[in-house]
Amino acid sequence: MHLSERIIGLTGGGSDGWDIYRKARALKSEGVAVVELTIGEHDRRTEPEILDAMYAAARGGHTGYPALPGTDGLRKTVAARVADRTGVPTTRDNVVIVPGGQAGLFAAHIATCDPGDTALFIDPYYATYPGTIRGTGAVAAPVLARAENGFQPDPADIEAVAPDARSLLINSPNNPTGVVYTQSTLTDIARVAAAHDLWLISDEVYDTQIWDGTHLSPRQLPEAADRTLVIGSLSKSHAMTGSRLGWIVGPEEAIGHLINLTTHTTYGVPGFIQDAGEFALSLGIAFEEQIAAPFRRRHAAASAQLRQHGLPVVPSTASMYLMVDIRATGLSGEAFAHRLLDDHRIAVMPGESFGLAAKGHLRIALTVADDLLTQALDTLATLYTTLTEAAA
Ligand code: PMP
Repeated sequence: MHLSERIIGLTGGGSDGWDIYRKARALKSEGVAVVELTIGEHDRRTEPEILDAMYAAARGGHTGYPALPGTDGLRKTVAARVADRTGVPTTRDNVVIVPGGQAGLFAAHIATCDPGDTALFIDPYYATYPGTIRGTGAVAAPVLARAENGFQPDPADIEAVAPDARSLLINSPNNPTGVVYTQSTLTDIARVAAAHDLWLISDEVYDTQIWDGTHLSPRQLPEAADRTLVIGSLSKSHAMTGSRLGWIVGPEEAIGHLINLTTHTTYGVPGFIQDAGEFALSLGIAFEEQIAAPFRRRHAAASAQLRQHGLPVVPSTASMYLMVDIRATGLSGEAFAHRLLDDHRIAVMPGESFGLAAKGHLRIALTVADDLLTQALDTLATLYTTLTEAAA
């Protein structure tokens, strides 16, 4: 049987990074109680009011083939939101609706890279990035953002590989680190992108989870505005992970081609989901803050708790994650995470799932109730201390 190199090689031959998550889920399905601090999924479901809007839209007949670029209403709402929050003029024609940020990432690489072209991405990265790029036929090339630089990418590292590349994928606020790229990092990235005619693919799905400071999109920078495709989604901002609703915002010409791509791939997003998304966005910033509030609270509390135990927490100002450095234990992130799951039934993601730069780290998703999280972090910290003392 012949299968394409693209599909066989999607995960690069190694692990796809989700081993611990699958092991935790398998234990759970056997009835074992596991505290899951793995994936970025809220510990609340989609707001009933949004589901009511979805149901009303479906009952109202919005169940046929959808408008392929997205409904007029949703595209205009997304455009207005982006224009309002970034100050960059944005219309319906700058927006295509896609089934989730993940589909947007794939489409953006199809739009910018031909097979064999080099697509850069920053490491540490969201675990799907390399496979998403490989799936499009482009060559996925990581650029390391080092722990000692606070996980900010170094523009010189990008500059060194930019001449041979077609695109650069960045993600700020960042998953897995929770780090927000500084204005100077983003300005330098924009300058390098302009100098080497790179597309910037800016994954901004965590733009409502910033705990200090404000969000800056490279699309706001004059040098990058015409070469940026922004990936957005309602998954994190509105607790709508299962609705699979996102968008790409970018120059009209690129969006036109991306609309053409939807005809040949997804054939749109269900109309009743889009209507629910439009309603969700109409709830405004107050609702988004309500969804983000538990993560804001836990991010502060968990950082303080772990630091009190002497654990090196990666300084960060955003996201539903916290990253800790466990290199002093002498264990890899993977070995530590397996030990924590096997012995204590707590699942966290090893840094290795997110690339080379985050090895020897753990990503903790702040996605369980506060008291359960506190208990789990005490256990994690005790294991860290025991292992560190044994390694000393
Ligand atoms: N980008 C990042 C950085 C993510 O963490 C995720 C999901 N965890 C996605 C994109 C995809 O999000 P979705 O497809 O649910 O919009």
